[in-house]
Formats: sequence, C-alpha cells, structure tokens
Amino acid sequence: YEAKHRGDAVAVYAPEADHNSPERLSLLGDLRTALEVTGGVRAEPGGTGLPQLPGAGEIRMYYQPQVAIDTGEVVGVEALLRWRHPERGMVHPEELIKAAEHTAVMRLLTRRVVDDVIEQLAAWRDAGLPMRAALNVSVRDLHTGDIVDQIEDRLARYRLPADRLQLEITESALMADPRRVLVTLSRLSRLGIAIALDDFGTGYSSMQHLRRLPLSEVKIDRSFVLGMTADGDDAAIVRSMIELAGALGLRVVAEGVEDERTWRMLHAAGCHVAQGWFYGRPMPAEEFGVWLSRYRPPVLQDAHRAESRP
Ligand code: C2E
Ligand code: MG
Ligand code: MG
Ligand code: MG
Repeated sequence: YEAKHRGDAVAVYAPEADHNSPERLSLLGDLRTALEVTGGVRAEPGGTGLPQLPGAGEIRMYYQPQVAIDTGEVVGVEALLRWRHPERGMVHPEELIKAAEHTAVMRLLTRRVVDDVIEQLAAWRDAGLPMRAALNVSVRDLHTGDIVDQIEDRLARYRLPADRLQLEITESALMADPRRVLVTLSRLSRLGIAIALDDFGTGYSSMQHLRRLPLSEVKIDRSFVLGMTADGDDAAIVRSMIELAGALGLRVVAEGVEDERTWRMLHAAGCHVAQGWFYGRPMPAEEFGVWLSRYRPPVLQDAHRAESRP
C-alpha cells in the first residue's frame, strides 16, 4: 500500500519536478537578466533602447485596443507582455508567467509591468492622448499590498488619475489566501482603480468571485468568443455570460473578436466592449499611436442596408 501511495504522491508532484527542470531554470535566469538589462529602455520612449547584452533579450509591453461595441470608440488598451529571447525568439507570456509565477522573479516582472504601463500612460498623456490601460496580474501578486504601494507611488509621481489604470486578475492557481487578496483588491478599488475578472468562464474563475470581489468588469475568455460563429453552444454560453454580468451591473468585455460576424453577434447580445484582431493586434506603443491616428470605427453593414431600404 505504501509503495502505491508513494507512487501516487510522485504522480501528484510531477508538475513540481517539471517546475524545476533545467530548461525552465535557464529560462528564469535569462528572464532575470533581461529584467535587469532592459530596465533602462523605458527612459527612452519610442527609442530602440540600450544596446542589448547577449543572452538577455528584450522585454517590453505591447498594447491592444479595446473598443466600445456600439459606437466603435477606442475606450482603452490592454497591456500585454512580450519577451524576445535571443535564441528562443518570442516567448509566449503564458509560458513565461508559468515559469516565473512561483519564484521571486515574478515580483520583479510585475513591478516592471506596472512601471512600464504607468510610464507609457504618462507619455501618452504628455502627447495629448489621455489613454486608459489595463494590465494583468496574477492573484499571487495580490497576496501582499506591495503592488498597491507601487501603483500609488507611480501615479502620484506622474500626476495621473487612478481611473486611467485598470487591473485584470487571472487565476492560474486556486486562490491560496482569498482574505488577503480581497484586502489588496479593496485598497485598489478605493483608490479608484477598476478591477476586471479575466478569462471569465474558465479555470478557477468561479461564480464565487462575482459575489466576493470588488469587480467592475468581466472579460469573457477568448476560447468561447472564438467559437461563437461556428458553435451554437459557445454562442449560448457567451450570451448568458453577458446577461449574467449585465444583471450584476458589471461591464462586459469580449476578447478574441477576430471577425465582423462575431462583432455583430456580440453587438446583438448587448456586450459592451470588444478586443481582438478584428480591431487591432497587440502592438508596441509607437505602433499603437500610428494605428490610433488611422483608426476608423467599423460600420454595421446590415444596419446601413436596412436604413437605406425604401
Ligand atoms: P489575457 O489577459 O486573457 O490576454 C488576452 C490574450 O488574447 C492575449 O494573448 C492576446 O494577444 C490574445 N488575443 C487578443 N485578441 C485576439 C484575437 O482576436 N484572437 C486570438 N486568437 N487571440 C487574441 P497573449 O498576449 O499571448 O497573453 C496571454 C496571457 O498571458 C494573457 O491572457 C494573460 O493572462 C497573460 N499575460 C500577458 N501579459 C501579462 C502580464 O504583463 N502579466 C501577467 N501576470 N500576465 C500576463
Ligand atoms: Mg487580460
Ligand atoms: Mg483573458
Ligand atoms: Mg488568458
């Protein structure tokens, strides 16, 4: 029995062994170096940055527009992490977060993301563009109040109002200490920072969170949105999530909107905001500025045809 029991235990802990794999550890080492080396790039908005040391690669935020579905107005951006590794190429943020999440590197990474995004908001403001940005944090970042202190400090330094910033919380692990997370979220919310529940409908983002957390927005996971036009079940799930969130007074954002048909279905379902390749891909800040200057809201073709009918 004991042998079998131990066997089970090994199986259970297999992900931990993988967590310490040489591959992952070397990725973490490179990430730490990249965080240290490319830190100075931020001081130079629009610049190509400092000369890169070999092995470090470049870490920077990309920005994807969020668009009001009924008016087509750009209401903000989501900041998404990008790391161009010199040998591995672009490292997917999910892979990176998975490697960093249980280590001290995660704290450095989140600090860097907060710094970059607030600095970018100030740069846009100075350029006459009062943009609003959402950034992603994992629930682990909320176990201490460090992030609140950092955000408060940076917003004050750049004289930015708190409502320019929004936090999207994702759960890649069960919430270990909900009480402490709640304390941190409440502090943020009192500051005037809106909180969105990301990847709604997947994983551990349970209905409990809707009741317990000080949320102002839910983001419907792209896996449902991507399937909407081809799969009636996905469409039904998306519609009921919109209805539920609406009934709770929450703003609803759909991510993964890749085509016009999906946009029209979301419009008909009463979804507030959309994000996806149909509008714009995640882009470096300079590119986003160019994109925005050329942006024209999409036009509902059917509505126009209906109006022009005699
Ligand atoms: P997320 O927060 O749910 O971000 C949305 C993801 O959907 C992004 O993937 C984005 O590039 C992708 N996406 C947007 N529009 C479309 C579309 O029309 N079609 C498709 N197929 N995909 C679309 P990305 O950038 O690879 O990020 C993946 C996840 O990594 C994010 O999911 C978020 O959970 C995490 N992440 C990204 N940046 C950060 C960060 O700075 N900090 C933390 N903690 N997590 C981050
Ligand atoms: Mg997100
Ligand atoms: Mg999401
Ligand atoms: Mg996600």
